[in-house]
Amino acid sequence: MQIFKNLFSKPLSIKLKVTSPNGFHLRPTARFTTLAKSFECDIKAKFKHKTVDAKKVNSLLSLSLEKNDTFSLIARGKEAQKALMRLQALFETLMQEDRETEQIKKEHSCYEGEILEGEIIAKGVAISPASVYKTERIQHESTLNFQDAVDKSIKALEERYETQKKSNNAEIYLAQKALLSTLAEKCNSLEALEHMIAEESATLKKTKHSAKISDYQDILQQVKTALGLEIKMHFDQGDFILLADDLLPSEIALLSKTRIQGVILKETAINSHTAILLRASGIPSLIADTSQIPLSSKIILDTYAGVAVLHPSSNDIHKATLLQKQHKKAKEDAASRRFEPASTIRGKTVKVYANVGDLLSAKIAKEEGAEGIGLLRSEFLFTSTKPSLESQIKAYREIFDTFEEVTVRTLDVGGDKTLPYINIPLEKNPFLGIRGVRLLKTHPKILAEQLHAIFLAAQGKKVKVMFPMISTVEEFRQAKSFAKEVAQKHNIEIGQIDFGIMIEVPSTLFLIPAFNEAVDFYSIGSNDLAQYLFAIERTHPLLKIDALSPVIFFALESVVKQATKPVSICGELAADSDAIERLVNLGFHTLSVNPKSVAQTKEIIRHV
Ligand code: PEP
Ligand code: MG
Repeated sequence: MQIFKNLFSKPLSIKLKVTSPNGFHLRPTARFTTLAKSFECDIKAKFKHKTVDAKKVNSLLSLSLEKNDTFSLIARGKEAQKALMRLQALFETLMQEDRETEQIKKEHSCYEGEILEGEIIAKGVAISPASVYKTERIQHESTLNFQDAVDKSIKALEERYETQKKSNNAEIYLAQKALLSTLAEKCNSLEALEHMIAEESATLKKTKHSAKISDYQDILQQVKTALGLEIKMHFDQGDFILLADDLLPSEIALLSKTRIQGVILKETAINSHTAILLRASGIPSLIADTSQIPLSSKIILDTYAGVAVLHPSSNDIHKATLLQKQHKKAKEDAASRRFEPASTIRGKTVKVYANVGDLLSAKIAKEEGAEGIGLLRSEFLFTSTKPSLESQIKAYREIFDTFEEVTVRTLDVGGDKTLPYINIPLEKNPFLGIRGVRLLKTHPKILAEQLHAIFLAAQGKKVKVMFPMISTVEEFRQAKSFAKEVAQKHNIEIGQIDFGIMIEVPSTLFLIPAFNEAVDFYSIGSNDLAQYLFAIERTHPLLKIDALSPVIFFALESVVKQATKPVSICGELAADSDAIERLVNLGFHTLSVNPKSVAQTKEIIRHV
C-alpha cells in the first residue's frame, strides 16, 4: 500500500481510483462511511480542490466521484494506518462488486409507428395506454416530534433492510439509513432537513449522481410520513404504462399492487435505486422524454429494443404481442425448469454450477437451480479482518452443506484483489506479481490455516480444492505437497479430496499433457486467461478485451482436446449467451456461472 507521510502534521494518505462504471454512489459510499466511522481518527477525502469528511455519506457523495476519478483519503490520529488499510480493501471490493449497471445492449427492431428512443432500465414488452398517477396529501395529527420521527424512519429502514436482506437490493435501505442519520445530525426541525435536502439536491443536480436525488426525497418523505403526512398515489384501475418524471425507491413497492405493465421515466438514471428496484421487480422500464407521449392512447414499450412506439399500427401491435409472448414463455420456461438438468437437443447433459463468494450467494445459487458450486471465491469470505481458524471452519462447513459438490479455490489475493491483513510489498505490476498460489512464497501460514480449515470442514463431503494462478506443473506439485503436509500435521484424512488448477496463466495451455499426470481436474478462468492472453488488464478503463475472440476459443479447444481429466469453465464467458452453444460444442460438460445466470444458461443449453 502506498502511504505517504507528511512530515509536518503526520497525516497518512492513500489514493483510491473509482473503477465502477456507476461511480462512487450511495450504496458503496454508505458502506464505506460506516467502516470509516469505526476508527479512532479523523478521515478526510480530497478530490480536486474539495476536502470533505469521509465519515459522512452526504459529504463524500458531494465529491461526485465518477469512474476513473482518483481521490485521496487522508487519515490522522491513533488508528490512521489501520483505517486506511481497511478502507482501501473495502473500497476495492466495493468497486469490484459494483458492476451490474453497464448499459444494456439494444436489440434491432422495426416498427411502423413513431419511435421514441430511450435508455433501457429493465427488459420486456408492454402494450397498454400511457398514464400518469395522481397524488393526494392528507396531513394527520402526530404526537411525534422531529427527532422521534427521524428515529422512527431510521427504524423502519432498518426493518426493511432486515426483511429484504436476502435480495441484492436490501443495501439500498442501509444506504438511505446512513444518509438520513448524517443529515439529521445537523438538523433540529423538519424545515431545516427540507432546506438541507433542497441544497444537497441542487448540488447533485448538475452531476452524474443526480439519480440519488430521489433517495434524498425518499428519506424526506419518510420523515414527513412519520410526522403524519399521508401521500396516497392513485393509479389507473386497468392495465397501464406509467409515465413519470421519476419515482421514489419506496414507491416501487406500491406498483406491484396495481396492473402496471411498464414504466417510462424522464429523469432517472440506469444506476439509480429506483432503476435497480424496477429491474428487480421485472417491470419493463425505459428512460425517455415522456413529454412527447400522448396520454391515454395505446403505446408499445419494447425495452429489448429500447423504444416506445407512439401511435402503433396494427402490424406493430401484432409484432409486439408475438414478441411479448415469446419472451414471457422463454422466461417462464427457464424459471420453471431451473431445477431440472440441462440436456442439449441431442441428449448431452451439461451441468450448470455456480460461482459464489459466501453462504448467502450459495443459498441464492441453490434457489436459482445450480447443481453444485464450481468456484467458491474464498477471498470474499473474509474481507475485513483475518478470520480465526474456527470462523473459517464454520464458514466452509455452512457452504459445503448447501451442495453435494463444491470446488473451493484457495485464496486468490493479489492483482486487483486485496485483503487488509495480507500485505503484499508494493509491485510495479500487481497482476504479474504475488497473486493466487504465489502467496505460498510470502504468506504460507495464511494458506496453511486456510487449508487446515477446508480439510476439517470437508470431512465426509465431496469437496475439490483448486489452486489459482498456477503457471507450471512444478508449482502445482509444490502446492499439493504443501496441502498434504498440512493434512498430515493435523492428522486429517484427505484421500477423498481432488486437487486441481485454474487454467488462467497462458503457460498452462502448453503444458496440458504434463498436467494430466498431476492434477485431478481443470477449471478455466476465462477472465484472467483473456487478460493475460491479450496483455490487457481486466479492469482497464479504456482497453477492452474481446471476450468472444477466436483466440480465446482456440485456447479453450486446445485444453479440452488435450485434457484427460475433467475440464470445466468458471469465467464470465460461461454465462455469455453468445458463447454457451460454442462451449457446449467444444466439449465442456460443466459450466460454472454467477447464480443469477443459472436458469438462463440451462435454458440456452436445452436449445443447443
Ligand atoms: C477467472 O479468472 O476467470 C476467474 C473465474 O477468477 P476471478 O475472476 O475470480 O479471477
Ligand atoms: Mg482468475
